[in-house]
This record gives sequence, structure tokens and C-alpha cells, in this order.
Amino acid sequence: DFLSNKIAAGEVVERPASVVKELVENAIDAHSTIIEIDVEEAGLGKIRVLDNGDGIDEEDIQRAFKRHATSKIKDEKDLFRIRTLGFRGEALPSIASVSMIELISAKAGKPGTKVCLEAGKLLQQEKSSARAGTDLTVSNLFFNTPARLKYMKTIHTEIGHISDIVNRLALAHPNISFRLRHNERELLRTNGNGDIRQVLAAIYGMNIARKMIPIEAQSLDFTLSGWISLPEITRASRNYISTMVNGRFIKNYSLVNAIMDGYHTLLPINRHPIVLLSIKMDPLLVDVNVHPAKMTVRLSKEAELEQLISTTIKKAFQQQEL
Ligand code: ADP
Ligand code: MG
Repeated sequence: DFLSNKIAAGEVVERPASVVKELVENAIDAHSTIIEIDVEEAGLGKIRVLDNGDGIDEEDIQRAFKRHATSKIKDEKDLFRIRTLGFRGEALPSIASVSMIELISAKAGKPGTKVCLEAGKLLQQEKSSARAGTDLTVSNLFFNTPARLKYMKTIHTEIGHISDIVNRLALAHPNISFRLRHNERELLRTNGNGDIRQVLAAIYGMNIARKMIPIEAQSLDFTLSGWISLPEITRASRNYISTMVNGRFIKNYSLVNAIMDGYHTLLPINRHPIVLLSIKMDPLLVDVNVHPAKMTVRLSKEAELEQLISTTIKKAFQQQEL
């Protein structure tokens, strides 16, 4: 079992940013409204995620580290209508297998529990005073996978990945207040009041946030919403184009191409906009269960969606000119 968790860790825990992503997604799935993330040495020193969500009961806390023991899917039918960010029950066991974990959690009005694990092995479990929510610290990441540790890039690169992930999750969840700190330095703080423009301002600065125009469209199968930067604000790469489906950030070349198609019909320049595009569709039309990292999805009616995206982007700029 330890071996299979460690094998899964190779796919789920590519780098410190993957740990941050999985922990924060768990906090989001647990209905948190405040999520605080503290990182040291780009996550190789420490990653701590503190939330005020549902919490975990004493009797469930060990199960959270068992492979495929998710609390989010009850039966096979649920697998085809996924509404939570997690569902495979792989993240915690995978992370635990390559690190040390201290987890303190409590449900509202219940006593808390604290567990410590090393390389997936339970070292200690005790009662603990805690307010409702979860406080999880990962340290010594990759201590027992020296090859993975060696593969890590500079602190600068790794913290860049962490920042990207948290920024995206904050954009996807403007109703949650996020705080990200690296070595005590604050990198992001959002107030959770639901205003995406404020999140954009927190990430890109007020000047850029003011120069983003809304994207909106609706068809029978899809609802599009989001923001795209005016032509005066461009970037040299596509890295600032983010797409999400039903609140989950995904990697999909064709959708980014569709955005660029719409953009380039009006602006024939070799630059790229900053884009946040959120797509809502029936979960039955989305297959998320393609890869353990859950960033790849298969979409039904993709051609129709691409068409809608490029015409909507075009229209967003045409309306701007009126
Ligand atoms: P998944 O998210 O796919 O269900 P994980 O391995 O990420 O699997 O987490 C295992 C289980 O631990 C979750 O199903 C959930 O019950 C519990 N859990 C993990 N993190 C939290 C949290 N921050 N708050 C409440 N429950 C949590
Ligand atoms: Mg999860």
C-alpha cells in the first residue's frame, strides 16, 4: 500500500505547487470561507494550509490518508456528475507518502484531533483543542524521493508555480478570502466579498484590473463568463490565459486556441491577452476522470464550445468600441 501511494505521488505530487493545489482544493470542497496558506522555501521547507471549513471527525481522520477513501463520492453515478474539486481520494495519501504531515482538525462543536505522519505512517494521534476547520502542515517534502528533490528548479520558479495556482483558485472563488505568504512575505490577499474585479486587482494591480472587459455569453449547453484585457495590455506568452470548467482550472489547447482566434480576428498582433474564462456546463458533459492531477478533461460538444468562445471574444471587443 505504501508503494502504491508512492507511485501515485509521482503523478499527483509533481512539485510543491501540486501539494498547495490539492490542499487548497480540499479546503474549498470543505466549504471554507477563509483559507490561509503559508509556505517556506518554496514549499520544500513547509506548506501550511489553514481553513475554517467543515473539518474532519476523530473517527474519519485516519481514513483521509487511505487510498481512494474519498468522502465526496458515494456511488458510481456520482463519478459522472462531479461537483467537488477532489473525488479520487488520492491526494492526501500521495502527499503523505513523500513528506511529514501534521494535521489538526475539528468539526463545529466537536473536540479536535491531531495526527502526525511520516512517509505515510501514523506516528501519533491525540485529542487537541481546535476551532472548527482544518490546519494541515506538510514538511520535508520529497525527503524520501531524492530524484524528485533534485529535479526541483530554483526557489523563484517553484514559488512562481505556487503563486499561479493560488491566484487561479482565488479567481475561481471570489467568495473565499485567500491569503498566501512565502517566508512571511504576503504574496496575495483577497477579501472574499465576491467581487472578481477586486481579485484581479489583488493579483495584477489596480491599473490592469481596470483595463479588463467582461466576457459573457449563453447558449443551450454553455454559460461563459470572465474577463479579457484590452489591447493595450498584452503578454508575450499564453500563460496568462486561464480557462476553467465548472470551477475547475483545466489545461485545454483547443479552448485557448479558440480564445486566440477570436482575439486575432480584430487584433492581428503577435501578443497575448490576459484572460480568465469560466465555462459552466452540465457535469454530465465533462469527464474529469482522465488524469490523477484532474487538470485534463474531456468535453462533449467541444467544437460547438470553441465556436461560442471565439465569437464571444470577438463581440466583447466590438461592443467595447461602441
Ligand atoms: P479527495 O479530495 O479526492 O476526496 P483527498 O485525498 O484530497 O481526497 O482527501 C481525502 C479526504 O480527506 C477527503 O475526501 C475529505 O473527506 C478529507 N479532507 C481532506 N482535507 C480536508 C479539509 N481541509 N477539510 C475537511 N475535510 C478534508
Ligand atoms: Mg482532494
